[in-house]
Amino acid sequence: MTPKQRFMNNLLRNGQDVTVVTIAGTTCPCMSKRDSAYPVYNPAWHRDNPTAAACNGTGLISTTSTSTAAKAVIMSYQTVINSGMIKKEILDNIGEIQHDDLFLVGTVKTSDGSFIELSGMIETRDYVTYNSKNYLVRHTFDYGTSSVIGQLAVLRRKA
Ligand SMILES: [Zn+2]
Repeated sequence: MTPKQRFMNNLLRNGQDVTVVTIAGTTCPCMSKRDSAYPVYNPAWHRDNPTAAACNGTGLISTTSTSTAAKAVIMSYQTVINSGMIKKEILDNIGEIQHDDLFLVGTVKTSDGSFIELSGMIETRDYVTYNSKNYLVRHTFDYGTSSVIGQLAVLRRKA
């Protein structure tokens, strides 16, 4: 068993319940109206086209969401700082941290024990639910001392 698989098994037994929610859909027509090379959400297009489907800032319409039950360790920012478990260089890279940001170490899929990669999550639409609250994934980092066994993520409360 690899160290990573051992860590995933530990998370499966001892981790806290989280739900990883990813949203997929059709790109909203507003996205390419300003500059098609750099599609971004365009509220002006929606004002000009009030009957068009609203993407609500996500840039997607006709969306479907996929919820995956998962386990991870969730810690407060203060706990992480006090424990010294994250190197200062990493914290400096994160930049501004808010008092209610959380750190997640994970992440394992509850149904089959496989690793869930969070780095591809898109801040404007995907999120992690923990304790009935939704959080954006702001940053992800490899986690482990001698080898990478998991992933660390900064979670910010979704407005
Ligand atoms: Zn739109």
